[in-house]
This record gives sequence, C-alpha cells and structure tokens, in this order.
Amino acid sequence: MADTRIGLFGGTFDPIHYGHLRPAVEMAERFALSTLFMLPNHRPAHRGPTAASTDSRIDMLDLALENAPHLAVDGREALRDRPSYTIDTLREVHAENPEATLLFFMGMDAFAAFDTWHDWEGVLALANLVIVNRPDAEHSVFSADLLTRQQASRGAKIVNGGSGVIEILDVTQLDISATDIRRRIAQNLSVRFLLPEPVLEYIGDNNLYRENH
Ligand code: ATP
Repeated sequence: MADTRIGLFGGTFDPIHYGHLRPAVEMAERFALSTLFMLPNHRPAHRGPTAASTDSRIDMLDLALENAPHLAVDGREALRDRPSYTIDTLREVHAENPEATLLFFMGMDAFAAFDTWHDWEGVLALANLVIVNRPDAEHSVFSADLLTRQQASRGAKIVNGGSGVIEILDVTQLDISATDIRRRIAQNLSVRFLLPEPVLEYIGDNNLYRENH
C-alpha cells in the first residue's frame, strides 16, 4: 500500500526507560503508526560494549512493551552476528516494503552527531527523520545546517511516498538517561519510576548494572 508508514526507533536501550517509552507513544500517535518498531542495535564501536547482553536488552524491551499495543521490538540489528549500520537496516526494510514511507526516529543528541553515521546521505535518500527534543540536547553546527538545507529543499512536514524530510517533534520532556540509570544501580541507589516495574525486577533478578561501565 502506497500510504503505509513504517516507524523505526533505533537505540541501545541499555536499559529501556520512560525517556524512550513516552516519546515513542507520542511518535506513534502523531504519525498514526499502527506499529512503531524499536530497533535495539549493536553499540557502535566507539562507544564500547553494551553493559547488558543483547538477549537481556531484548528481554527488557519485551517486558516494557507488554502493554503497549503500538510499540514492538524488531531484533534484526541486535541479532546479527556483526555490527550493522542503520543504512543496511533501511535497505532491508525498504526491500521488504518497497511502497512504504520510512520514518526513522531519533533524539536531538543523536541527530547532532548524525554526520558520524555511516552513509548518512544514504539514510536520507531512503527515509525521513523525526527528531525528538530531549532535555539538554542541542543542535551541532552540522545538524542545524542540515535541517535548514533539507527543510528548504524538501519541506518541513513528512508526506507519504517521500524521503529526506527532517521533522522536529516536540514530545514530553523527561530528563532520563540509561547512563544515569546504570550509574545509580552501580551506586546501589533506587531507579524506581524511571523505568517500568517489570524491567526493574528483571534488572534485580539478573543482577545487571551492578558494576559501572
Ligand atoms: P545512554 O545514556 O546509554 O547513551 P540513552 O538513554 O541516551 O542511553 P539510547 O538507547 O542511546 O538511550 O537512545 C536511543 C534513542 O532514544 C536516541 O535517539 C536518543 O536520543 C533517544 N532518547 C534517549 N533518551 C531520551 C529522552 N529522555 N528523551 C528523548 N529521547 C531520548
């Protein structure tokens, strides 16, 4: 169907928290997505290994999304036996759904460093970007310029059938980060109400994040 929109939200999700989940619900609503796919990735080489294993990160996502009808996990990147790039994933999704409009979601901090992504021009050729605001995250010179250029040439609103539009989406601001959650756990501090209760239980049961990375 030409009017199908596929939403993809990539991240390390180490662990998944409400700073991912609330914006994800708002993204799905704003773009009327029947499903927004959360794509846990291999941690990029320059960030070092993830603190929790791939299996644990996917288990935690599954627990977090149990009661979220419009959110689902797509494990294709995490389950590959090699690090993968967003461009490879978008090529795959495009090949599987050639008619669909692809929407790739990211926080402003990720967009500020978008020029470090492998073949970012290719990403824009295949997908539209939706950038969500995040507390304390600001444009870089690169991202501010790119936004201005793309909006001048492509417009500021995503339309069906196109790619290369970059849209900024205001979402409820939650100053939560996985780094802070891992740090608190390593210091034996509570992380209750920063992430869903079943995820909290899973972290406790599996003794995750006890040592800071
Ligand atoms: P870390 O602290 O380990 O870097 P993180 O909390 O930033 O992790 P990621 O898995 O790296 O989480 O983020 C996945 C995506 O979610 C990124 O595009 C990021 O910008 C976005 N994101 C993460 N936390 C928030 C938040 N609190 N508000 C809005 N977007 C967020």
